[in-house]
Amino acid sequence: MRILIIGGGIAGSAAALALHQAGFEPAVHEAHPDSGEDLGAFLTLAGNGMRALGQLGAAELVAARGFPLTALRLIDAAGAELAASPLGDVEDPLTRYQCLRRADLAAAVQQEVRRRGIPLTHGSRLSSLTEESAGITASFTDGRTATADLLIGADGLNSRVRALISPAEPRYAGQKVFYGYTTEAAPPDHRATITMIRGSATAFGYTCSPTDETFWFARVTSPRATPGEIATTTPAAWRDHLVPLLRPDTTPAADIVAATGDQLMVTNAVDLPLGLRWHTPRAVLIGDAAHAASPATGQGASMALEDAVILAKALRDAPTTAEALADYDRLRRPRVENNIASSAALSAGRPPATPKTPPLTDEELMRQLSWTTPLPGSRPDQ
Ligand SMILES: Cc1cc2nc3c(=O)[nH]c(=O)nc-3n(C[C@H](O)[C@H](O)[C@H](O)COP(=O)(O)OP(=O)(O)OC[C@H]3O[C@@H](n4cnc5c(N)ncnc54)[C@H](O)[C@@H]3O)c2cc1C
Repeated sequence: MRILIIGGGIAGSAAALALHQAGFEPAVHEAHPDSGEDLGAFLTLAGNGMRALGQLGAAELVAARGFPLTALRLIDAAGAELAASPLGDVEDPLTRYQCLRRADLAAAVQQEVRRRGIPLTHGSRLSSLTEESAGITASFTDGRTATADLLIGADGLNSRVRALISPAEPRYAGQKVFYGYTTEAAPPDHRATITMIRGSATAFGYTCSPTDETFWFARVTSPRATPGEIATTTPAAWRDHLVPLLRPDTTPAADIVAATGDQLMVTNAVDLPLGLRWHTPRAVLIGDAAHAASPATGQGASMALEDAVILAKALRDAPTTAEALADYDRLRRPRVENNIASSAALSAGRPPATPKTPPLTDEELMRQLSWTTPLPGSRPDQ
């Protein structure tokens, strides 16, 4: 089966590895003209995301780009420790939480895609789709076209594929997210630890890399930043806005932000509505294109990686593409929509809603992710 993947970010590149491993012929089209290793948000890749990468033989190369986080501390606005706990499976270097820049994660997986000989074209931006019973044709803004049996929309939050098969606009989740990097803040005394601060005006988090660079974020409940504000407000102006919100607290947050130079950015926390249609007979959405959540739970990239493994297993194991896409939807929707709802509740300061279906146990998730185990319900004898 020829498979076109639109978007060579985290979901698209991981899907390329998974589909190639399952014996298909994927080809990736990425709009960004180069490998996209620009400055951007950092993320914590949770143990479930690392496990998904492990099934694709890619956990090691991602771990090499990041640094491990083995503990979480929660402190209040007065600096008092409310909780401290280990993060995930701290013993195994390949399933530990990792902290890294989003672009570095995408670049690491893209590099592996190329190493395995999977075609990946940069500067290839999808503009439209034509779906027929014999195949699906993608047209790109530079006039080129490509035809395949199946097309995967892994083109992120503002997905063009979604706009063509299931239009839905991202919704503002009520918080602006500030994030930045500084080498000027005194390194925290807790190594490999992410410290979350329940501040009086912000939810703040920080950690320090092995090279003494502090990575931090702040979620601030406030009106949405307009595109004009995002384009024209300088890092110094955002810093001057944020520091006074942090200063009343007796925590390191205000000093960390005050010590940050130009590497300070802001974005709006947004998510997608639940219940979107994810597929047509020949096109399917994965990652943020299907189910972007606000960043509060820190699970978007891990969910995208899980999608890649489970979609490839579904296509490998089900008798027909239609059944595979139905299996993918059935297995993924409760988990990712629960993440959207939990993240929205955290962003709004509400208690998490009771999930409509019970969350997967670790054992059930591992059974779904494990490359050598068939997906539940994907074969007639299961
Ligand atoms: C501030 C912030 C903090 C976050 N923190 C975390 C965290 O701590 N942990 C976590 O797990 N997640 C986090 N996330 C979420 C995470 O970044 C996303 O869930 C993840 O990047 C989704 O991957 P993706 O591949 O689906 O989309 P993307 O990473 O957005 O990749 C989509 C790709 O598609 C390409 N593309 C777009 N349009 C086209 C087109 N028309 N044609 C071809 N290519 C196209 C883009 O160039 C891009 O490379 C955070 C997000 C933000 C904004």
